[in-house]
Amino acid sequence: TKGKPKYKRIVLKISGEALKGDVTGEVIDGSILQAMADEVKKVHELGVQVGMVVGGGNIFRGQLGEKYRGIDRTTGDHMGMLATAINALALMDCLEKNGVPVRVQSAIPMDKVAEPYIQRRAIRHMEKGRVVIFAAGTGNPYFSTDTTAALRANEIQADVIMKATNVDGVYDKDPAKHNDAVRYDELTFMDALKNRLNVMDSTAFSMCMDNDMPILVFSMAEKNSVIRATLGEEIGTIVHN
Ligand code: UDP
Repeated sequence: TKGKPKYKRIVLKISGEALKGDVTGEVIDGSILQAMADEVKKVHELGVQVGMVVGGGNIFRGQLGEKYRGIDRTTGDHMGMLATAINALALMDCLEKNGVPVRVQSAIPMDKVAEPYIQRRAIRHMEKGRVVIFAAGTGNPYFSTDTTAALRANEIQADVIMKATNVDGVYDKDPAKHNDAVRYDELTFMDALKNRLNVMDSTAFSMCMDNDMPILVFSMAEKNSVIRATLGEEIGTIVHN
């Protein structure tokens, strides 16, 4: 793939759920990890600075812990954040085996397994060509990894958040339920609000809107999706002010 990247610095947000193997049933599926590493490697090779946020939903979600097991929400959210760290380490290992240098920075200090999150150091790593994976969410309960992506993207002054989901963009209605659903190529934050379109949770969404941080919603299932998005090719839905 050739071309000039549209973005210099991106934050790629991957849901934890996406790591789960449909076929194998593995919590972290090796072939999915590899496919993600392939995608990231291509943009890294272009010289694009990459920060990543990975969810933890394949392992644990605080809200569901409360609902189904009566686990206190704050405790459950701590468990969820630890789950994201597990995923971050898996991604780190796979990326490095593919020749991409990585640093994991955790919002919850765990100095044997990851660096602490330090904004200036994260930027420095990226300038030196290291992919930084932001683990343990924001470090706070009652937040999400979408909010983490919004927060980190603003902190490190990324050009865009790329939110990889299982849907290839934002639709006017749920494409799983309506076969006449129409996908937007482009959308303003205001129109997304007015039409109650689900882009990110409201905390993450308003943080992006208030700070002028565009969000590209797309599916990583398609090969070369991340590089195509980085080159500014038409893919997914871009949400901006
Ligand atoms: N979480 C949290 N604070 C954060 C980020 C995440 O408490 O800043 C917890 C929360 O319990 C959440 C879980 O970590 O359910 C996993 O994150 P998320 O649900 O965002 O993962 P995804 O849906 O992307 O897999």
